[in-house]
Amino acid sequence: MSDIQTDSSEVREIRINPIVPSESVLVATARSMRPKKAEDLAPRDTRKHVETCPFCRGNEHKTPPLIMAWPATGDWQIRMVENLYPVLGDDRAQSGFTFGLQQTIDGYGRHEVIIDHYEHGTAIHEMAESHLAALFGVYQTRMRQLFESDERLKYVLIFKNFGPAAGASIPHTHSQIIAMPVVPENVDAEVANSAAHYAKHHHCIFCALIDEALTFEATLYDRASGAVRRKINVGQYVVERGEKFIAIKPFASRYEWEVHILPLTHQADFLDLRGEDMADLARVMKRTMARLDAVIGGAQYNFFLHSVPHSGSDSKHGVPHDGTRGEYAASYHWHLEICPRTSIPTGFELGSGLFVNTINPEQAAERLRAVEL
Ligand SMILES: [Zn+2]
Ligand SMILES: [Zn+2]
Ligand SMILES: [Zn+2]
Repeated sequence: MSDIQTDSSEVREIRINPIVPSESVLVATARSMRPKKAEDLAPRDTRKHVETCPFCRGNEHKTPPLIMAWPATGDWQIRMVENLYPVLGDDRAQSGFTFGLQQTIDGYGRHEVIIDHYEHGTAIHEMAESHLAALFGVYQTRMRQLFESDERLKYVLIFKNFGPAAGASIPHTHSQIIAMPVVPENVDAEVANSAAHYAKHHHCIFCALIDEALTFEATLYDRASGAVRRKINVGQYVVERGEKFIAIKPFASRYEWEVHILPLTHQADFLDLRGEDMADLARVMKRTMARLDAVIGGAQYNFFLHSVPHSGSDSKHGVPHDGTRGEYAASYHWHLEICPRTSIPTGFELGSGLFVNTINPEQAAERLRAVEL
């Protein structure tokens, strides 16, 4: 008999991402295994207004040219401008251009900045639901305009870096849009693998993961009588559930507090999200961010909107620009990936390509669910 006591909650296993099997995560919760140093995160800027900030109200003349504002008249709440330091130029011929996403592209694309809120340091969970719904509306409007503006564009990436730990160089809350003639490698891997899954099993793998997340059941019994007091249907990976959207903790989470938000009903293209459903997306997003903020103690994060690529003019793949649904409409499912930054990748991670997660995803989901909102 061994006298070594092991904590039953300790996990040390390699988990394969069911959607992108080439991506694996080492979940290692044992303290001695912990390869990451807790990082002293630089605090984020929480001021409401900064006189010298070009993104604050009153300094509109300091920003690059305006693309659109919401509302269109009166005091703006959300503003979209061209990027002062675009990684992609507009119609400039550049070959072998490498940008932050490690993509090499031919040089046509657009890079724009959305000032998410007029208040300088406002976090998403502090914004009104109606404001967030409008922000998603702005994302969608611009994505549609960009796809319609040039048929060479295949992908419009919308993302946000929030806080210095997440690489945000401008402290005023903002998101970015990059329109490109290629599909980013990680989205391409999701698209290809989910299409292969569909060909074999005739269902969307994202829908299957949602079903799986929801089917875990718990029954609460009355201690004295043994009678069933309550049955709960909240799956162990569910973080937040709305009427139309769900926030889940991926089984193979790359980051300790990574959460994905997906539409509950199958939908491949973010452009198909109906205006009336944006309120529910806003509610699920706000509540998820509030949970993350409460558990982490000030969330600094990146989020990415992953939607089905469009086909561009030179390919029959993806969603054609003529509005008909393309070949990935049944197999791909759009989603938001929220990746809070709580530690710096170690040399081991960078060198091996294997992500290391020191918190068991099931326990992380439980802690996020337990937050009282
Ligand atoms: Zn500002
Ligand atoms: Zn689906
Ligand atoms: Zn994705």
